[in-house]
Order: sequence, then structure tokens, then C-alpha cells
Amino acid sequence: MFDLSPSTILITGGAGFIGSHLCDTLLEQGHYVLVIDNLSTGRIENIQHLKNNPRFHFAQADVTNEIVLDRLASKSDIIIHLAAAVGVKLIVKQPVRTIETNVMGTEAVLKVGRRYGCRTLIASTSEVYGKGNGIPFSEDDDILLGATSKSRWAYAASKMVDEFLGLAYMQEYSLPVVLFRLFNTVGPRQTGHYGMVIPRFINQALSGEPITVYGDGKQSRCFSDVSDVIRAIVGLAQHPEAPGHVYNIGGNEEISMRDLAEKVKRVTDSNSEIRYIPYSEAYSSGFEDMRRRVPDTSRIHALLGWRPQLSLEQILVRVRDDFLA
Ligand code: UDP
Repeated sequence: MFDLSPSTILITGGAGFIGSHLCDTLLEQGHYVLVIDNLSTGRIENIQHLKNNPRFHFAQADVTNEIVLDRLASKSDIIIHLAAAVGVKLIVKQPVRTIETNVMGTEAVLKVGRRYGCRTLIASTSEVYGKGNGIPFSEDDDILLGATSKSRWAYAASKMVDEFLGLAYMQEYSLPVVLFRLFNTVGPRQTGHYGMVIPRFINQALSGEPITVYGDGKQSRCFSDVSDVIRAIVGLAQHPEAPGHVYNIGGNEEISMRDLAEKVKRVTDSNSEIRYIPYSEAYSSGFEDMRRRVPDTSRIHALLGWRPQLSLEQILVRVRDDFLA
């Protein structure tokens, strides 16, 4: 890793699942961490243990609150923008909030980043690969999204606008902007409230409830542990050659939801039944899922030597132990 003198890093969405782990790591490395989070999906419990750390500051506000954002950015060297609508369930239910949070939030962050010359990292998502089936997904692939009548795709489209805007700020204003697309990320502190499959399956398995597999269960994902994801983000925040590009961050073990349910049963030693639920019941009618989602991580590997270290088995054990604790 690169040896940087202590920096001040502003994390938007720093009370969320990924953001709070990022706070922990950056503080451990000796940096100063400022957080802006409106606690809509972030949770104060995630950062409670940091409140007496003199190098940590938390402001409860929307990322679009220009006054608070300006004040924090004016003291920062780096901004890591994670604040966004989260989870497919929430996105389908609240499309207005999704679009507005994603587009207006990123616009606000880039403006202050430019004002104070901060290196600006923007989280994007593997959702932008949409219905593409050129597996694995590479950063420069063409993109195929569903119709605008399907609200799921609003998330992908709004994040694509964020990416375009970030790259445009770099091109026109020479602002050092880094974009990263997160694939399915898992770990302690993630809740299943917004649809995320692993905390849901583990919770169901531990409480003996049916494990709910949506559709035929043959759709597949690659999961990565939040600790591996944080290592990637911190590397991108520090590498001099990272700006100006988009990077995939994701796991390399592909698994179907059917097999995942079986694996969760084994890891939790559970007798839960595996129940198949039609998508129309799980989300809403006309919902479109992705059949496969596999990242090509050769770009970030070439830059940082990064690859995930934790296996799916280890990830599931960590989540199980977090639930049991
Ligand atoms: N899923 C499932 N049962 C659940 C929750 C999710 O089978 O209780 C499926 C979901 O339909 C998707 C996959 O698990 O195919 C991953 O869902 P998640 O919401 O975790 O992330 P996504 O990849 O959809 O962003």
C-alpha cells in the first residue's frame, strides 16, 4: 500500500454498511475522517464506537445540504462519495428518492470537490451492466438496460449519469475523479432490510424460517467481503494513477442462489426449508432480474495488485458469527 501522510477524508454515507467499515480502516491508518450521513439507511450504531475518537467527526445531514457539505469539504483532501439509494427493494419502492439522491448527491459532491481541489471518488454499481450477457463484465463494455417503465433500471441509469458527470469534471476541470463499480458486497453490519440476499438467507436459516429463493434460483452472483472491498477503495484513494478511470470491485466465485441457499444451510447447520418465490411476489410484477453478474477485475488488479482474499465460505461464516453475536 502507498505510504501517505495523514489526510482528511470526507466520507458521504459514512454511517452505512460499507462507509462505516471504511471509517474504521482509515482511522486505523491514522487519517482524519469526516462523515456526512442523513441516517436514512445508514445507522448510528455503525459508527457509535468512533464517537470519542478525536480524529472522527460526524454530521447528520443530507449530502445535498450545501452548507454542511461545503464546510466539511473545505477541510478535506479526499472525498469518498458512498451516499446513495441502496438495495433493490427500496429502489423499486421509492424511485423518486433513488434518482434524486443519486444524481443530485453526486452533483453536489463534485461541485465542492472542485471548489476545494479534493480528489473525489464516486461509488457506482454493477447494476450499470444491466442486462448485458457478455460475462465477465468489463468496465468498457457496452451497456444494455431495460425499459424506463421498469423502475429497477432507474438506479443503473442514475449511476451512469454520476459516472458521466465524474468523468466530465475530470475532462473539463481537471478534477481528479475515480469511479468504482461495486458488485455484491457482504459482511458484518449489513442488514437484510433492503433485500440483500446473504444477510436474509443467514437470518432465515438461523431462525429456522424458510429460505426464500426468488425465481428459479439459477441466477448467479459473485460476492465479496467488505474487508476486501475497503482495501480496494483505499488503494484507489491513494494511487496517483487511479483518477480518470472506472474500476470494477467484486468477488471471483460465481454461485447460483439455489446453491447459495444450500451453502447457507450447511454453514448455519440449519433445517430450514428452501422455498421458491416468484419474482412477482417478491418485488412487483414485471420485475427484471439479472441472470448472471460476474466482474472482470483485471483493471484494478493491474493497478493495485488487488484481488479478493476471502472465500465465499469465509464470508458466510463471518456473517453468521456477526448475526450470532
Ligand atoms: N434474492 C433471493 N432471495 C432473497 C433476496 C434476494 O433469491 O430473499 C436474489 C435476488 O433476486 C437476486 C440475488 O438474490 O437474484 C441477489 O440479490 P440482492 O438483492 O442481494 O442483490 P442484487 O444482485 O439484486 O443487487
